Amino acid sequence: MAATVTRVAHACALLDFDGQAVLTDPWFSEKPGYYRGEPLAWTPATLPRLSAVVASHDHYDHYDVGAFSAYPDKAVPFIVKRGMADKARRAGFTNVTEAEPWEQVTIDGLQVTAAPARHGVPEITFVIQGAGKTIFFGADTLKIPGLDEVPRRFPAIDAALLPVNGLRIRPAFNRQVVMTAEEAGEYCAVLRPTVAVPIHYAFTAGRLRDRLFLKYDGTPERFQRAVARQAPGTQVRVLAPGEPLTLGD
Ligand SMILES: [Zn+2]
Repeated sequence: MAATVTRVAHACALLDFDGQAVLTDPWFSEKPGYYRGEPLAWTPATLPRLSAVVASHDHYDHYDVGAFSAYPDKAVPFIVKRGMADKARRAGFTNVTEAEPWEQVTIDGLQVTAAPARHGVPEITFVIQGAGKTIFFGADTLKIPGLDEVPRRFPAIDAALLPVNGLRIRPAFNRQVVMTAEEAGEYCAVLRPTVAVPIHYAFTAGRLRDRLFLKYDGTPERFQRAVARQAPGTQVRVLAPGEPLTLGD
């Protein structure tokens, strides 16, 4: 039994558990202030059949239900943070479940567990299990003490997708809202995943908006160095959109 991790773009990824595919944080369209900065590996129309979709928080670059409503199967199980379901239902999705940390949803042999997060708006992360594999999806959370509970409940994580761009909001006194590459490295020492895949780093708001509103503090290369230093048991794989990573036995 094997699982495959493939990034779609940004924090949107396709996790395949022996043929059961789970899509994370759907983001398929750009608009002023929201640019992927990397190619899009799939569109909603070209995606494989999905067994589930998870969405961590209601930011456009993680919960683009407008564009994702082009996905044909509106009955796909859709698991979101509490308070987000209405928006997906208005976009036509009929099987939406809201979750808070440690609530679990079982779908056809897949187990989705919500986990803690902290960001600019209410957020959850996810532990997704299937085909004997366990994957942690870190969305774009800060590194918070609550996340230390994940390895206590899930001591064997095969892969972790972790944000690394350390985003700060300039007009909010440079408030940090996403973990930095080094913090993601520190979290690998806690989580001890076999493989770590950096996500959430190519995004840009555009030159002017970046200068006015945002600050970035982290790259995949910095994450690689941090993990080598702080969590040498974890292997880092930097994946281009569409490049599959197979988690073997
Ligand atoms: Zn966000």
